[in-house]
Amino acid sequence: MNAPIVIVGAGQSGMKAAETLRSKGYDGDLVLYGDEHWLPYQRPPLSKAYLKGDMAEEQLYLRPDAYFEAQAIDFQMGAKVSELDVDARKISLENGDELAYSKLLLATGTRACQIRLPGADLDGVFTLRSMDDVAPLRGALNTAEHIVIIGAGYVGMEFAAVAAGMGKSVQVVEAQSRVLKRSVAPEISEYFQRLHTTNNVGLNFGVGVQALRGRGASVNAVLLSNGAELKADLVLVAVGAVPVTELAEASGLDVAAGIIVDDACRTSAPNIFSAGDCCFFPSRRYGRRIRLESVQNAIDQAKAAASAILGEVVAYDPVPWFWSDQYDSKLQIAGLSEGYDRTQLEGDLDSGSFSLSYFSGDRLLAVDAINAPRAHMIARKTLAQPSSAEAA
Ligand SMILES: Cc1cc2nc3c(=O)[nH]c(=O)nc-3n(C[C@H](O)[C@H](O)[C@H](O)COP(=O)(O)OP(=O)(O)OC[C@H]3O[C@@H](n4cnc5c(N)ncnc54)[C@H](O)[C@@H]3O)c2cc1C
Repeated sequence: MNAPIVIVGAGQSGMKAAETLRSKGYDGDLVLYGDEHWLPYQRPPLSKAYLKGDMAEEQLYLRPDAYFEAQAIDFQMGAKVSELDVDARKISLENGDELAYSKLLLATGTRACQIRLPGADLDGVFTLRSMDDVAPLRGALNTAEHIVIIGAGYVGMEFAAVAAGMGKSVQVVEAQSRVLKRSVAPEISEYFQRLHTTNNVGLNFGVGVQALRGRGASVNAVLLSNGAELKADLVLVAVGAVPVTELAEASGLDVAAGIIVDDACRTSAPNIFSAGDCCFFPSRRYGRRIRLESVQNAIDQAKAAASAILGEVVAYDPVPWFWSDQYDSKLQIAGLSEGYDRTQLEGDLDSGSFSLSYFSGDRLLAVDAINAPRAHMIARKTLAQPSSAEAA
């Protein structure tokens, strides 16, 4: 009998790969390992509707419990894969169990970056990545009066919107000069900054954090690099995420800014594939390797990996897309804007419904749409056309 196909990581990507293997007719043994103590779930609501309390826990789950038995997917909850032996084609769990695999998929995702600063381990200091993070964070959010968010990326700004909506005093501290600087043009940052300022969120740009200060075991202030001090009984550290690559690295797989795969999701080791946030993959479309942290990539790359595992010919080269919800505004991004030399605005910034296209020469690279879903869908179609697909 053949050894099972084994998936390590039961997030959005690992789950989609398992579903796809079954829907494509794979009827052999299939084992899905997840080190969290939850059914596979979606993360985006953790900083949006679920954080606010507008969404029930069950709605986070990607599939109900019964699905796994019905599809003969051996889902192992709370099971951390701790070793991978490429030559012997087997994995080991923390509890010492071993399992041989025929094909292996690494879908290990990312973890939140931590800050190494005095006071970072005080009570009241949080990161936001998993369901385990949300329960204590929500409790603290309900009672906190002064909230400081370190990092003005998507998670930080979505959290700011929820906290401000609850009437909390919110300050955001960001070393860069504007919000969401890594991914959007100044016009889009400006739009969101105005939105947050209107909602009484304080924005502190171009400044770092020296230390977190406490009263007893709990945080009560954030000391900035310019000497200013912000009151804080809750601090969210939202300074990005790093790919979980230890297993791959320790077993000798090629790893750079993520687990290196080709366009068929194959790692440098035979019979081992990888998909989702943890992967560093070639984009012909953008002429470089990229690592994406998005639901789009987690799902589409998982489908591609499952097809490749089953021996189909695959050439994964997606149009990336992403969204963020802050207050009543929805930002939808199609494509990657890095390397643009001009932008073009459609619509009116003040109306709250507009889009911004990014070009390199004549080539459209990306479109950010704000409260403009039609513009987003058109952008995805345009970017998917073969004429758009070649790197400049
Ligand atoms: C708060 C938040 C909000 C977000 N909002 C958006 C959004 O609005 N739009 C969007 O497109 N994207 C959003 N994202 C990103 C999106 O959720 C991720 O891109 C997606 O979850 C990636 O899926 P993944 O399966 O690759 O990784 P993950 O979802 O991280 O899953 C990986 C899983 O593997 C497990 N694992 C790791 N190592 C092992 C091991 N050795 N053994 C067993 N299990 C292991 C991990 O614990 C984890 O459960 C958000 C993310 C967060 C955290």
